[in-house]
Amino acid sequence: MEEFYEVYKCRRCKKEVILIADEVADTIRKSKYISCSHCGSKETVKDTSTSDLRKCMDHSAYKRVKGAMRQVRQE
Ligand SMILES: [Zn+2]
Repeated sequence: MEEFYEVYKCRRCKKEVILIADEVADTIRKSKYISCSHCGSKETVKDTSTSDLRKCMDHSAYKRVKGAMRQVRQE
């Protein structure tokens, strides 16, 4: 299965940009580049791909909350 989201990390400001994989492929096919949404730098590196955006979120959320996580996710 193809990954739906791609995560790019800016080498200048270190912020992450999450993009739709299909759109990235289309942009690159048209000889354009992926730039940072925050500072406009062209120096972005592909970090991870995921078919589920929540996985990215959960990962950092888990690190933050740990013990409280189970209760938070009940609903
Ligand atoms: Zn940036």
